[in-house]
Amino acid sequence: MYRTHNCGDLSLDQLNQNVTLCGWVQKNRNKGFIIWIDLRDRYGITQLVFDEERTPKAIFENAQSLAREFVIQVQGTVIERESKNPNMTTGAIEVLVHDLKILNPSKTPPFTIENDTDGGEELRMQYRYLDIRRNPVKAKLLFRHRVSMAVRNYLSKAGFIDVETPYLIKSTPEGARDFVVPSRMNEGQFYALPQSPQTFKQLLMVGGMDRYFQIVKCFRDEDLRADRQPEFTQIDCEMAFVEQEDILNQFEGLTRHLLKEIKGIEVDTFPRISFDEAMKTYGNDKPDIRFGMTFCELNELAQGKGFSVFDSQELVVGITVPEAAEMSRKEIDALIEWVKRPQIGAKGLVYVKCLSDGSFKSSVDKFFSPEDLAAWAGHCKAQAGDLILVLSGDTKTTRTQLSALRMEMAERLGLRNPEVFAPLWVTDFPLLEWDDESKRYHAMHHPFTAPKPEHLNLLKSDPASVKANAYDLVLNGNEIGGGSIRIHNQELQSQMFDLLGFSKKEAQAQFGFLMDAFQYGAPPHGGIAFGLDRLVAILGGEETIRDFIAFPKNNSGRDVMIDAPAPIDDAQLAELSLKITAAKKE
Ligand code: ASP
Repeated sequence: MYRTHNCGDLSLDQLNQNVTLCGWVQKNRNKGFIIWIDLRDRYGITQLVFDEERTPKAIFENAQSLAREFVIQVQGTVIERESKNPNMTTGAIEVLVHDLKILNPSKTPPFTIENDTDGGEELRMQYRYLDIRRNPVKAKLLFRHRVSMAVRNYLSKAGFIDVETPYLIKSTPEGARDFVVPSRMNEGQFYALPQSPQTFKQLLMVGGMDRYFQIVKCFRDEDLRADRQPEFTQIDCEMAFVEQEDILNQFEGLTRHLLKEIKGIEVDTFPRISFDEAMKTYGNDKPDIRFGMTFCELNELAQGKGFSVFDSQELVVGITVPEAAEMSRKEIDALIEWVKRPQIGAKGLVYVKCLSDGSFKSSVDKFFSPEDLAAWAGHCKAQAGDLILVLSGDTKTTRTQLSALRMEMAERLGLRNPEVFAPLWVTDFPLLEWDDESKRYHAMHHPFTAPKPEHLNLLKSDPASVKANAYDLVLNGNEIGGGSIRIHNQELQSQMFDLLGFSKKEAQAQFGFLMDAFQYGAPPHGGIAFGLDRLVAILGGEETIRDFIAFPKNNSGRDVMIDAPAPIDDAQLAELSLKITAAKKE
């Protein structure tokens, strides 16, 4: 038997017992006549003591060779510590060692394996297995396990069946590029890794599975952005014989269950907002509603007063920043520079300070009377002490810019409290999105999403105005889930592919299997997928998903530990009938 207890088990309850422990040497304090060792395993830390007088001589000598991260097995007696550590579960005892076995020595680790480490990000990723020994990383993996078990239990109890779908498939268009895998046995042919199991889960509904879920890896070859992983995990779900309302209720239930189970927080019914309303009120389809600062459109009040910057624009819109009228000239100038940065791209920023004596001080005092500014303040629900910030320009860009400013102000004012959870549903997304580059429509969610039945007649005449039964679940400014009611009718699906610019032949070649299936009694169905990595990070109160992934890729999509991606040798290329052109090889 390797061990009788783990390193988090022992307390005064085991006083004078003989125990066997295994673990890693975390700390080693050698005073010559006495050696203390912090022995670590997944469960905790236990202090060992080797004592010149009480430990057998050979064992005491052997203990001199111990160093950080050696894996050892010890036998000893649980004794009471003289100076107790109330912060440790095992802090009242230590183990007086009488037998020691070195199970495996260790090279000196490249960074300290303690809560606070001296290792930089890159180094810790290269030796991720050592990083995982550290409490903060280990705790995040255990936390992820708790979340994913809570998800599984909840869904299984609700009648959802966990079905695995294949990874070697044919491309599914979900807006990103596919990772492809060459097939050795089918020369010149490729599998694609799934961007999601979308078509398979729909086929499971045609297969009568009725309620499906899977915690599943998805792969998207997107341009890298901070905190995006090329492979990520979804909680993927689908239901048959449901309407949007059924899905929203079911998954609101799941989310509420998680908040209760994991965070001990009870949340009311989630608010719902339409996509159009979200864009108008927050400039964003994933609004953070932990704080206000909603948009107030000022076109009517601010145009036609001789301020040409506003007069020529499509939209004049502001936010009221609470209790920020005290901002100094310098701070405001810095804010103006902030919105002018290329990442935001605003041309300028107009401000109105609502002073405590009821007067106003603005950057446009020359153009607007105190009465004008009072009307703005009234419209923007600004009180004395508040600051109104106003941007103008074309509607889409200005909303995006003001949304960024709103988030920045919330950040500065400390309004994005990670311990507050404010979920909401965004519904009624447009079915299609015009893409200027390719000069055609793209599916806003994916091509399998059903138009709202009442908008079917607009599909031909005014496709841009068609709304879909598509919804996102947003939590604290992050889209954590998204889904839709699907098309289950072959003709409508085919019409949709038409609209998206697929020829009949292309649609048949790529999605013939799905349209065939729709002709064999496909039930009405719909579903949703949650991003598990992001969900876990938010529940864990953190911004980055990377730490919640055991072996993440870095910002350039590389696994620096195994050094992937990597070239393959010519023989392997030949076997796959692949050639790397000389230019690429260089
Ligand atoms: N497959 C979709 C996605 O990955 C989710 C869904 O529609 O269920 O976003």
